[in-house]
Amino acid sequence: MLLISPHIDDAFLSLQSFIVDSSVRNQIVNVFSFSNFSLSNISLPNEVSLLRKKEEMKIASYFGNVDVLFLDLPDCLLRGYTTPWISDTKQILSKEKFLIDKLYHLIFNIKYDGLMLFPLSVANHVDHIICQIVGNKFLDKGFEVGFYLEIPYKFKVNFNVFPKPFMNTQKTLLFSEKEIVRKSYSSQFNPSNILGFYGETITQMVDLGHDPTISEEIYYFDTNFWVDSCWKKGVNRGQIFI
Ligand SMILES: [Zn+2]
Repeated sequence: MLLISPHIDDAFLSLQSFIVDSSVRNQIVNVFSFSNFSLSNISLPNEVSLLRKKEEMKIASYFGNVDVLFLDLPDCLLRGYTTPWISDTKQILSKEKFLIDKLYHLIFNIKYDGLMLFPLSVANHVDHIICQIVGNKFLDKGFEVGFYLEIPYKFKVNFNVFPKPFMNTQKTLLFSEKEIVRKSYSSQFNPSNILGFYGETITQMVDLGHDPTISEEIYYFDTNFWVDSCWKKGVNRGQIFI
């Protein structure tokens, strides 16, 4: 599988169980891997990007069956956006046309012959939507494309609001299993952060009898179907961390 990850962490945090169960070698393509977002006390993009890449490579070597590529495109906050959350996805098609075309060709030039997975864009993060649009372009051209649900580690959402795929695959894993990956990205998450649907820790989740599992999903669509950003269909992005 070729896994298109908008940011460092999205693919591993969203597709962990698929990567673990995969019998073939996978490749993660980190698109917007030039970033200055970090919880640590460094803020220079070069330093932050280096730190985030180290975190990514650490978890990649833990899994062992993944190659990682960094495209080093600047993330939205380094491209002049003051917020990553976009209310009008249509404007992205024209506003980001250059970047969409550039990303399409960068991925095309990898010449991957097999299943490519793009983010479904369940929230309205501009960088995720750009990747999703590029995924649509590959789908349109007849490539083998799927879209993964990028709910990295935290909340569950109402799946009924998503576009109807002709097929989806789902795997379930425990929140505690997700911890292995989540802890690798300490520059992005406070390790003591809450985890569950109701904001509880794993221990509290068990004590309260809450569901300690999380599902990871991949959706497949017909080639003539334009996968739209899911947030417009009623997902409250406040429910989702991406
Ligand atoms: Zn992301």
